[in-house]
Amino acid sequence: MTGGGLRSHDAATGFPFHRSRSRRVTSNVGQNYPYTSETEADRATTVASFISTHEGMADTLKAETTPVDQNERWWVWKCPTAGCPGLLHVAGYALDKHALFVVCDGTCGKTFLR
Ligand SMILES: [Zn+2]
Repeated sequence: MTGGGLRSHDAATGFPFHRSRSRRVTSNVGQNYPYTSETEADRATTVASFISTHEGMADTLKAETTPVDQNERWWVWKCPTAGCPGLLHVAGYALDKHALFVVCDGTCGKTFLR
């Protein structure tokens, strides 16, 4: 329980994930390719659960994202954190990054931009 919230915040505010740090991709299911998809109901449930278990996440989402549109299905990505079995779920649109703000439902509990 040390600094998890801060790390999440850093990740959400511009950690240069896409380019410079991802040269070692272990399979051709690259980090930017969706892993699977889920229904809107599943996405909403997962994200609501994430928000309820991560202090301050509701405020972070309000400050840094706009709510998602109505879609029937959403992409899901594998979490890129080493050793984390989680999946990344869309929680909103990042305000100034032209990216999706995603949250990990696994052990790392981080947030990322896709
Ligand atoms: Zn994770």
